[in-house]
Amino acid sequence: MVVMKFGGTSVGSALRMKEVSRIVDTGEQVLVVLSAVSGTTNSLVEINDAFSSGDKKKGISLIEKLEEKYHQLVNELYNSDSYKTAGTEIIRVHFDLLRSFAENGFTQKQAFEILAQGELISTQLFYQLLLEEGKKAALLNALDFMRIDEEGEPQMDYLREHIKPLLEKNKETFLITQGFICRNPKGEIANLRRGGSDYSASLIGAAINVSEIQIWTDIDGMHNNDPRIVNDTYPIRNLSFDEAAELAYFGAKILHPSSVNPARTAGIPVRLKNTMQPEAEGTLISAISDRDTIKAVAAKDKITAIRIVSNRMLLAYGFLRKVFEVFERYKTPIDMISTSEVAVSITIDNDQFLDGILTELKEIANVEIDYDLTIICVVGDNLLEHSGFGAKIFESLKEVPVRMVSFGGSKNNVSLLIHSSEKVRALNMLHAGLFKKELA
Ligand code: ASP
Ligand code: MG
Repeated sequence: MVVMKFGGTSVGSALRMKEVSRIVDTGEQVLVVLSAVSGTTNSLVEINDAFSSGDKKKGISLIEKLEEKYHQLVNELYNSDSYKTAGTEIIRVHFDLLRSFAENGFTQKQAFEILAQGELISTQLFYQLLLEEGKKAALLNALDFMRIDEEGEPQMDYLREHIKPLLEKNKETFLITQGFICRNPKGEIANLRRGGSDYSASLIGAAINVSEIQIWTDIDGMHNNDPRIVNDTYPIRNLSFDEAAELAYFGAKILHPSSVNPARTAGIPVRLKNTMQPEAEGTLISAISDRDTIKAVAAKDKITAIRIVSNRMLLAYGFLRKVFEVFERYKTPIDMISTSEVAVSITIDNDQFLDGILTELKEIANVEIDYDLTIICVVGDNLLEHSGFGAKIFESLKEVPVRMVSFGGSKNNVSLLIHSSEKVRALNMLHAGLFKKELA
C-alpha cells in the first residue's frame, strides 16, 4: 500500500479535488491523507482570534464568509442533486458547530476543535466525491488513532495498535483520513501543529509499513534553491533522508521538518510530487542519494544571534553546560553554535523567551545580541571531506559579510549566518557559484 498526502492547494477547488480523485486511482489500495482546503486553517485561526478577544460579531462574520466558499465548492464538486444535498449537509453540521462556539464561553479546548474542522470537512467532501464517482471508498477518522503525549509527541505504539483493526475491517481501494488532527492524552482534540499533515502521512506510513509515502503539493519537488528568489532552480531528483531533513528544517517549505523522521526510522521512501503536473518525476527521499555532491541551498529567516563572552570560559570546563541549561530551562532550541576560547555564539529562531534567557545569561557572562539574521544552509553529501566544497562556498559568497559559520556539525550541511538584507544576493551568488555549469 502507498500513503498519498495532498496539501491544501491540491484540494483547493472542485477541479483540484477531481484531479486528486484521478491521481489516487492507481489500481492499488491507497491511503489518502488530506489537508484542509487551502486558506481554511488560516481562516479558522482568525476565527479563534476573534472569539478569544471577545469579538463574537467578527467571529461569526468570518465563519459566514468561509461557509459561503464551501457552498460554492459543493455546487461545483458534485453532479447529482443527492450528492449536492449530502455535501450541503456536511457543511451545515460543521458550520453550525463553529457558530455554537460563539455562545459557549471560549476555551483553549474549543480553539483546537475549531482548528480541526478544516480537515474534517475536506475529507468528508472528498469521500462523497469518490462515492459519486462510483469508487469503493472508506473514511477513517484520524481522531481514532492519532494521539500525542504530554510533550506533544505523536505516540507511535498507540497509532499502530489503533489503525491496524481499521485496516483489517476496511478493504476498500480508497481509504481516506485527515492529516494534522489528533487527540491529546486527555482524549481532547489537538493537532500536530501548522503544516502537520505531512507529519501525519509519514507517521501513518511508518506505522503500517507502506511501500512509499507520497507528499503531493503544488511544486514539482524540492528545488535546489528558493524559486521565488532565484531563477533557473530545478527539482532535485534524489535526496538522502539526512539531506531532506536539513532542507526541510532550513526553509524548503515544501515538507514539514518532522515528517522525514518516521519515514527514515521505518526505511520508507518519501516521494514529493506535484498535483498540477502529476507526470513530473518530483523528488525521491530515500536511503540512496548521489554521493559527493552539493544538492541545494536553503534559507531560514527571523534568526536571532546571541554572543556570550566570558573570561571565565578561558581554559574552564562546565561553562557551556551553564549556557545550554539556560536554553533548556526556556525550552528554546539552539540552531547554530560556534565557539572561540572566550566566546560562544548561538542562534535561535524562537525568541518567545528571549528576555528571560538574556537575564539569566547576563548573570554568567557579557551578552551581545543581533536581530534580523538569516541562516543560509548548503546541503549535500560528504560536504566535509570532499576537498574544495568549503572553498567553493566561500568563494561564491565572497562579497557577503558572514556573521557566523557552522562547518563540521554534520556531513550534510554547512550553515552560514548573514544579515537578512543580504539574503537575496547570497542565494543568487551561491546559485551561480555552486550550480551553474561553467561556460566553455
Ligand atoms: N491544515 C493544516 C495547516 O494549514 C495542516 C496542513 O495543511 O498541513 O497548517
Ligand atoms: Mg504543507
